[in-house]
Amino acid sequence: MTKRTPIIAGNWKMHNTLAESATLVEALKKADNKNNAEIIVAPSYTSLAEVARLAKGSAIKVAAQDVHWEDKGAFTSAVSPVQAKDAGATHTILGHSERRSVFGDTDEILNKKVAAALRHGLTIIFCVGETLQQREANETISVIEGQLENGLKGFTAEQLKGLIIAYEPVWAIGTGKTATPDQAQEVHAAIRKFLAGKYSQEFADATRILYGGSVKDTNVDEIMAQPDVDGALVGGQALIAEKFARIINFN
Ligand code: PEP
Repeated sequence: MTKRTPIIAGNWKMHNTLAESATLVEALKKADNKNNAEIIVAPSYTSLAEVARLAKGSAIKVAAQDVHWEDKGAFTSAVSPVQAKDAGATHTILGHSERRSVFGDTDEILNKKVAAALRHGLTIIFCVGETLQQREANETISVIEGQLENGLKGFTAEQLKGLIIAYEPVWAIGTGKTATPDQAQEVHAAIRKFLAGKYSQEFADATRILYGGSVKDTNVDEIMAQPDVDGALVGGQALIAEKFARIINFN
């Protein structure tokens, strides 16, 4: 079985001025990394270039929070994969539930964004997750399989090599409610099974699947102890250097 390097990613969302972003990344550069985790931070676009500049030469990689599907054009306020890459991003989050629910990113739109990110060599952190209503209706796995099937449509395992998936139950994001370790493991195992069936066992074994949804310094250890949880995508606590450093150094 493939040994998967853990990933701890922080989504800074619409937080932090330039100065605050610089302070945070400087603090994270000094943090221990006893698990040799891949550390990724996703600042606002306004801080992307500065954070990438400050992170250069450290273990910290920088992600865009989203990219447009076109390389350039009349798309006021949007940021293209070319621009994100130019600013220093090596990764991009796609399909975060806030993008899906607030900005209307559908599976079809996300599929175009996946194509754009792949075209420019950005590593994708592809987010999937069910609402509370869908969970209560026992639709969790079918919803997630649909998001993967449609969002990644048309790409081969070879093209998707390096893909990172983040399972983020919508009801757990920013709510303080975390999936239990068993709930997370159940969905992560189902995602891996889906990847094995759709692509190959090798691809499924190599793909890192992160859990996101109110991950904290106090619950990260039990979540990371699950065999199919390969890392965390963190929102709120990614803004607090000591908390995020503790999450990076999960036990
Ligand atoms: C997120 O935004 O991806 C997230 C998981 O947020 P939080 O950790 O605050 O729930």
